[in-house]
Amino acid sequence: MRFGFGAKWSAVVALLFATACGLPRNEKSVTQCVIGNDQLSTINGKWDVTPVRIALGGLVGAVEGSDTVNDKLLIQTSAEVWNRFSMISFGYPIIDYREPGSGVRVDSWDTGGFPACSIDLLATDEKSFVDPIVIRKRAAWPPDLSESVIALTTTCPRRQACKGLGCRYKMSIIELNLQHYFAPGKPQPDPISILVHEMGHMLGLGHSCEYRSADGIPDCNSKYLPKAYKNAVMFPQFLVTREGPGEVRSKLNANDMGRTNCIYK
Ligand SMILES: [Zn+2]
Repeated sequence: MRFGFGAKWSAVVALLFATACGLPRNEKSVTQCVIGNDQLSTINGKWDVTPVRIALGGLVGAVEGSDTVNDKLLIQTSAEVWNRFSMISFGYPIIDYREPGSGVRVDSWDTGGFPACSIDLLATDEKSFVDPIVIRKRAAWPPDLSESVIALTTTCPRRQACKGLGCRYKMSIIELNLQHYFAPGKPQPDPISILVHEMGHMLGLGHSCEYRSADGIPDCNSKYLPKAYKNAVMFPQFLVTREGPGEVRSKLNANDMGRTNCIYK
């Protein structure tokens, strides 16, 4: 297993060549833990240390059209989606992306590939970050991963066997597939929607439903799937076309907020 024992990776995949949906409607902030009985296994873990520190990571491979200024703006905009919610719900920003004096943090910390969970971003006292979680663009997507995967978030627990809220993270990484998406000439997913989704994984959220059956995880294919699961930022697929920008689903809905409250409140 390439990720080291205990690593969990969560992907968002594209549904190619389909028609993009409309924008989600605005919903009011949810400040309580709200989770369906059918979603009880959709929380994967949590950080004891908050706010969670993130940074724009080093590039892996040459990326045509790479634009650090724009990348920073995308990270800031996406993190602020979570922070606007968490300010209301928790009273503090859940994601820390700022470097004093220089705007969005940039970090060259890099393992040169997918990380092993032996890497520890938390100080040994586990009360602070020694390194930030990086958001990395990959020019070459690992061949053993499907090219339909737009992005991948890896989370590493502190202890081997853990589940749900009992699972405490020690590191994470977000990787974007620039071999098959985003780059010039490739399908263009909405980057904010994808980053907001991946940040949800980084914070400990699983998908609102999955395309496989499991206890406590709703089936995305069910005709009874609640609309709130389908419209959630954490729904596992985003529609992408060759021609135009991908589906925009970048606002947290009641289901995203209610489940996040169960983790951090
Ligand atoms: Zn996902």
